[in-house]
Amino acid sequence: MERKIYDLGDIVQMKKPHPCGSNEMEIIRMGMDIRIKCVGCKHSVLVPRAKFEKNFKKVLRSSKEPQSE
Ligand SMILES: [Zn+2]
Repeated sequence: MERKIYDLGDIVQMKKPHPCGSNEMEIIRMGMDIRIKCVGCKHSVLVPRAKFEKNFKKVLRSSKEPQSE
């Protein structure tokens, strides 16, 4: 069972790619609802947390742990 860990500023991958073709989204606001911004076309969307977690796949890049590679 995979734990779902995500935080503000993380780049996450969703199960369904954005219509523009990019599947990388940046979390730009967290609360009752989560605002994510498409890395490809910069379009942002506000989704309820439950819906976000349903569509969330994994964190690609965490804002808290800088990765050397
Ligand atoms: Zn997009």
